[in-house]
Amino acid sequence: MYLFKKVEDLQAYLSRHQKTHTPSIGYVPTMGALHQGHLELIRQSKETCALTVCSIFVNPTQFGDASDLDNYPRPIETDIEQLEAAGCEVLFLPSVAEVYPQDIAAFRLDLQGLDQTMEGASRPGHFDGVVQVVHRLLDIVQPSHLFMGQKDYQQFAVIKYMLQQMRSAIQLVRVPIVREEDGLAMSSRNVRLSEIGRKQATYISKALRQAKKDVAEYTLEETKARAVAFLIANGMDIDYFEIVDGDTLKSVSDWDDAPIITACTVVQVDGVRLLDNKVLKELEVG
Ligand code: AMP
Repeated sequence: MYLFKKVEDLQAYLSRHQKTHTPSIGYVPTMGALHQGHLELIRQSKETCALTVCSIFVNPTQFGDASDLDNYPRPIETDIEQLEAAGCEVLFLPSVAEVYPQDIAAFRLDLQGLDQTMEGASRPGHFDGVVQVVHRLLDIVQPSHLFMGQKDYQQFAVIKYMLQQMRSAIQLVRVPIVREEDGLAMSSRNVRLSEIGRKQATYISKALRQAKKDVAEYTLEETKARAVAFLIANGMDIDYFEIVDGDTLKSVSDWDDAPIITACTVVQVDGVRLLDNKVLKELEVG
């Protein structure tokens, strides 16, 4: 695997690659502390593209709290080993100064409320930071395909909107959530759960699986009420449980209101915010 820290060196390599190979470049942006979920993005990129570029960059502009940024895990040696083993061809490991040179203005986009609900409600400015960094990284890497996890559904919806607004030709691929055997969505935060908390956390995916079944029999409002009641009955501390239009992220009450309908939830276990979601409806487009 090639490792580049400088934009210039990465771009020199990528332009050499594009001259000699088919130009498909798959890009997987991450903040490191990699687990099987991240590696699934690499796997899908390798399956589709001639070359896979992964970046590890802990983006300061998406953290509201400086101590969260400082405390973000950075196990770079094991990350590199995992990427090597997964067959990732290129790792981009830039510094903050490399991603945000002083003479490039921050990219901003009116997110039409996508940034105000759910995660955005408790993290003002977070999605502006996500848009800023992904826009800049895409400009550096110039991929043909961008692989992002469904795990961060709102983030995916924000980047999908950004690419639409830019009339970008980049193909955005939504990679399904990789789960532990008992259903818990993989996350670097899971290690912070106690033994009891780890068991309780399985109620989250159970509630979402049940919601997916319930929509055949109940209205969306009833489905949501049943999921919330199930989580509360099992002692869960719910931050939110929303059933939304999968593109606009606005609440939907009618099954026919949107082509994609997704249930998104955050539940706190042992003080750890656990995100999960399930697509309840998705019409094939085209
Ligand atoms: P992060 O390093 O947390 O910014 O995540 C990098 C990418 O990995 C994002 O596109 C995430 O949505 C994705 N990701 C994280 N966890 C999972 C998972 N369990 N399954 C699939 N993708 C994931």
